[in-house]
Parts: sequence; structure tokens; C-alpha cells
Amino acid sequence: MRSDARDGKMSSPRGSSGRSRYARRMRGDFVHLHVHSEYSMLDSSLRLRQMTQRAAELGMPALALTDHNNMFGTLQFVKACEDAGIKAIVGCELNVRLETQGPARHLLLLAAAQEGYRNLVHLVSQAWIRGSESKSTPSVDLEMVAAHHQGLVGLSACMGGSLAQEVLVQGEDAGRKMLDRLRSTFAEGHFFIELQDQGFAEQKALNAALVALAGEFGLLQARRVTLGAQDSGEEGAG
Ligand SMILES: [Zn+2]
Repeated sequence: MRSDARDGKMSSPRGSSGRSRYARRMRGDFVHLHVHSEYSMLDSSLRLRQMTQRAAELGMPALALTDHNNMFGTLQFVKACEDAGIKAIVGCELNVRLETQGPARHLLLLAAAQEGYRNLVHLVSQAWIRGSESKSTPSVDLEMVAAHHQGLVGLSACMGGSLAQEVLVQGEDAGRKMLDRLRSTFAEGHFFIELQDQGFAEQKALNAALVALAGEFGLLQARRVTLGAQDSGEEGAG
């Protein structure tokens, strides 16, 4: 699994020649794997049909949906992907706590198999049940993810992810330990580091550290998609 998007918008350079060059470059094996739709409230303006049609137009063979803490758009997304002739990758950017009382950090989960889909549904449901019981934001413990990791691929997510936070706050050594912990949560070869660049000042040093950490591990370069071709504005860091 590899992705090397540099542009978080599902847009192409202005002008028809630029557009076709971008489409040609995207054609083949490029797939956006960290994508927030209209179901990521206050975070994305992307309509599901808009983004699946755009992905097909750009020659992408598949597209992921990874809304924040919910899978509300899954059915609509799968149908939209079928209509667009591309493969649907169902996922979620879930709040995960390393310790039960610890802060909730982001972790991206993708269903790579039917069992992974069932585990994802279970984890997201548990996150809401726990959030309701504790009157806090939906979240699950990392241990619960480990217990239901089969069929799931994990990605380190954004600057709000455990790996990024550990590197930013505690440094690279602490980041290495966190990377080991996250990798061991998933099956061998099922965890990847995301590199994101939304132009935030911290990301330059963070990405350099993540690249160093990724030397012996799988590396995934990504950028959150929250805006469509007709939209404009800055991205957040969620
Ligand atoms: Zn995030």
C-alpha cells in the first residue's frame, strides 16, 4: 500500500492541459486513503458522490472513506463507488486512548477484509457506547483495537495521532517506542506511518522525524482530503 499525494484537495491544476497532466499522473495505483466527507462534521465539505466521481475522473482505482469516529456514510459511499466504477475502502479515523484515563488520540483504521469491516463496526460502536456512558467524546482503548485488529490496517493519522504527539512532545526516542506499540497492535505489515503536510510549522520537523523512524518500517505519505475541486480554504489538522 503506497500513496504519495501532495495535494489534499481532490482538484487538479487550473487549465485543461494541467488538468489532464494531473489526471495522467494520478491514473494507475494512486489512492487517497485518508478522506473526510460531509459526515465529518465541521471538518469537511466533501459530498460523497462528489468525491467518488472526482476520484474516478482522476483515474483512481479506489477511494477510502475515513470519517471522524463514525461510519454513517458507509452505505452511501459504497453505492457511490459502485456507480463511479471504483473500489470502496471503508475506514474510520477513530479516537483511541493509550490508557483509559489518557487523552484521546487519532488513529486511522481501514478494513482490508470482511473480518476487518466487522471489527471496525464493533470498535466504532464501542466508542460511542463508552462515550455515552462516560459523557465524553467517543473513544476506545488501544487494547480494544489490539483485540479486534484482524482484517484491519492501521495508519498513524494526523498531528493529533499518538505517534505524532509523542514525537512532537517527547522526542524521537519516545516516538520510536510509540511506533513499536502501534505496530504490535496490528498484524505484521498492517501498520503504516502517514506523512502529512498542510503547511503547519511543526510538520517540517515532525515529518523529518517520521521519515527517520520509517526507515525500517512501512511508510505512507498522505494528506487529508476535506475539500473538493470547487472549494477553497485552508485545511485543519484533524
Ligand atoms: Zn486526525
